[in-house]
Amino acid sequence: MTGGAGFLGSHLCRRLVAEGNHVICVDNLYTGSRANLSELLESPRFKFIEHDIVEPLNVDVNQIFNLACPASPVHYQYDPIKTAKTSVYGAINMLNLAKEKNARILQASTSEVYGDPEVHPQTETYRGSVNPIGIRACYDEGKRMAETLFFDYFRQFGLKIKVVRIFNTYGPHMHPNDGRVVSNFIVQALRGDSITVYGDGTQTRSFCYVDDLIEGMIRMMNSRDEFTGPVNLGNPGEFTMLELAEKVLRITKSNSKLTFAPLPMDDPVKRKPDISLARKELGWEPKVNLDEGLVKTVEYFKGLNL
Ligand code: NAD
Ligand code: UDP
Repeated sequence: MTGGAGFLGSHLCRRLVAEGNHVICVDNLYTGSRANLSELLESPRFKFIEHDIVEPLNVDVNQIFNLACPASPVHYQYDPIKTAKTSVYGAINMLNLAKEKNARILQASTSEVYGDPEVHPQTETYRGSVNPIGIRACYDEGKRMAETLFFDYFRQFGLKIKVVRIFNTYGPHMHPNDGRVVSNFIVQALRGDSITVYGDGTQTRSFCYVDDLIEGMIRMMNSRDEFTGPVNLGNPGEFTMLELAEKVLRITKSNSKLTFAPLPMDDPVKRKPDISLARKELGWEPKVNLDEGLVKTVEYFKGLNL
C-alpha cells in the first residue's frame, strides 16, 4: 500500500489487516502520519516502511494499491513539481515492481482526470477537459499520465492492472488541516470560526463516505482479470458548497457565519459520477448518504482536541 499513512490508505490498511492479509505500508509521511496507523503498528501482519515512491522499491508483494500522492489542492499545489514526480515516477516504480513480482496493481486515480467537465454526470468514456498549464495540472495531468502508463504496461507487458477514478471522499481520519472542503467546514464549525466558501458556493461536488469507497476499491482489486477499469467510484448525490455548509452547521449546531473568498483558478463548476459501470461490474454502490456520513465524521472531529 503506497500512501498507506494517509486518509484513504490508513482505512484500507486497517480493513486489509483485519481481514487477515499481510500489509506493507510505504509512505514518505508528506501528508500522512504514523498516528493514522497507531492501531496497526504492533500487528505482526503489518509493516511500515518510510520511503518516497519517486525512488524505486523492492519488496515481496502479490497486490499493490498505489495511493501515494497528496490529494488536497492546498497540499498538491504546495510543491507542484514534486506532485507530478510522485504521480509519474511513482507510477513507473510501482508498475516495475508489479512486473517484477507478477503482482496485481491498482491505481488510485481521480475524478480530476475529467477536469472542469462538459459532460454531466461523468462517465468513464468522457475524455475530460483539463487545463494543462493551470495550477491543478500538476495533479490532474500527473494522474492522467499515470493512467496512460498503467495502460501501456498492460498492453506492452500484460500487467494485471486496475484503475479506479475516485470522486470526493470524506470521513473520520481526515487531517484537520487537510484543506479539503468537508474537513475545513467541520473544523471551522466546531471551532466557531467562519465557514470559508470559495466563489459563490454554487459549484457542486458528490461526496462519498470513506467506508463505501474502501469497499469499492477492494471489490475492484478482486474483480475478474479482464476488468481493468477505469471505473468511477463515488456517491452520485450532488450538492452545492452552500448546501454542504448548511448541513454542517445543522449537524454541529454551530453559529458560525459564512465568509466568501475568491474561487481558485480552474475550480470545477460541477462534478457527479455516473456509477453504472461499478454497479454492473462490481455489484457496488454507496450505502451511506451525506447526512449520515457527516454525522459520523463530525463525531470523529469532536473527539480531537481542535
Ligand atoms: P492523503 O494526502 O491523506 O494521503 C496521501 C498519502 O500519500 C499520504 O500519506 C502521503 O504522505 C503519501 N505520499 C505523498 N507523496 C508520496 C511519495 N512521493 N512517496 C510516498 N508517499 C507519499 O490523501 P487521500 O485522500 O488519502 O488520497 C489517497 C489517494 O487517493 C491519492 O492518490 C489521491 O489522489 C486519491 N484520491 C483521493 C480522493 C479523495 O477524495 N480522498 C479523490 C480522488 C483521488
Ligand atoms: N472549497 C470551499 N471552501 C473550502 C475548501 C474548498 O468552498 O474551505 C470548495 C472548493 O473551491 C471546491 C469544493 O469546495 O469548489 C471542493 O474542494 P476540495 O478542495 O474539497 O476538492 P476538489 O474537488 O476541488 O479537489
